[in-house]
Amino acid sequence: MDHPLRRKRLAARLPELDVDAMLLTRLPNVRYVSGFTGSNGQTLVRTDGDGVFFTDGRYDEQSRREVERLERVVYSREFAPACAKTCARLGVRRIGFESAGVTYKGFQEVSEAIGETPELVPFDGVVERLRLVKEPDELRAIERAQAATDAAFEQIPDSLHEGMTEAELALELELAMRRAGADGLSFETIAAFGENAAEPHHEPTDRRLRRGDVVKLDFGALVNGYHADMTRTIALGEPPDELRRVHDLVRRAQQAGIDAVRAGVAGAEVDGAARGVIEEAGRGAAFPHGLGHGVGLEIHEGPSLYLTSEDVLPAGAVVTVEPGVYLAGLGGVRIEDMVEVTEGGCRVLPTSTRELIIVP
Ligand code: ZN
Ligand code: ZN
Repeated sequence: MDHPLRRKRLAARLPELDVDAMLLTRLPNVRYVSGFTGSNGQTLVRTDGDGVFFTDGRYDEQSRREVERLERVVYSREFAPACAKTCARLGVRRIGFESAGVTYKGFQEVSEAIGETPELVPFDGVVERLRLVKEPDELRAIERAQAATDAAFEQIPDSLHEGMTEAELALELELAMRRAGADGLSFETIAAFGENAAEPHHEPTDRRLRRGDVVKLDFGALVNGYHADMTRTIALGEPPDELRRVHDLVRRAQQAGIDAVRAGVAGAEVDGAARGVIEEAGRGAAFPHGLGHGVGLEIHEGPSLYLTSEDVLPAGAVVTVEPGVYLAGLGGVRIEDMVEVTEGGCRVLPTSTRELIIVP
């Protein structure tokens, strides 16, 4: 990953934002411009693309290894005084900061430490916008994460058995992802049996699997900081007829969504394409969430595929397409895949079958 180039791209935006430096405190953004993977770090980027990376003593060695071609300031306890001292030394006058990347307390500490100058100016989403379009290395990491996710799912039909709990199945998926090359999990695995599948997000419990249950699994592997996100709904034995029909409906809605994705189209329009299929079937009220979201260094990032979203999809973004229909007391179906937005359409990242698998 070319971190100096990313800093140059951010630096190029600073004049129009009318600041002479940008202070990054959201960790995915710090990682994006510096390469630092630890849990505490900040980066100041100046208009020439140069800057300063800050961390505490625990990450001195790690940041020495990871952060290339950037001055490092290692503080012993508090960021605010180190930041103030550096800003004074560099003579910056107006600093942009990430309004979504500070606590109220953290903001107070920094503004007290730096005094009247430099001025602190809040911004939202500046680096996130740069991150929308994935570079080839980022796409490769996402593909590797998806490959581990797929490999884990393919083992599930064999390991599904009556009497196992949701928590046990979630653990099996997680182990399989780790064995297939995941560094970790993208998020807490969702495993929902039978009526529990009616909850879009469900924490695995000790609910035991019975014949006729649907099994909804939402899971993803993490590789090199990049996330995968996939949902499949399968069944042990014959599921209720209504859920079979719902699976077919959600499958068609997902295809309509995938068919609507292309560079330049609005996220809201893609949502509408899939939602329309579900509404036509009279199930609109049973689809209570957005169609999808961007995936990258964060599991949920831009662009958003939702009815009220103002995002437009750029070529090179990676987004999920994940319609769902949930019927209280009976169960639910969601099918989710990641696609790369291209000029003429999209490329579905390689995934296992989306047809309903019925484990005998
Ligand atoms: Zn998901
Ligand atoms: Zn998702």
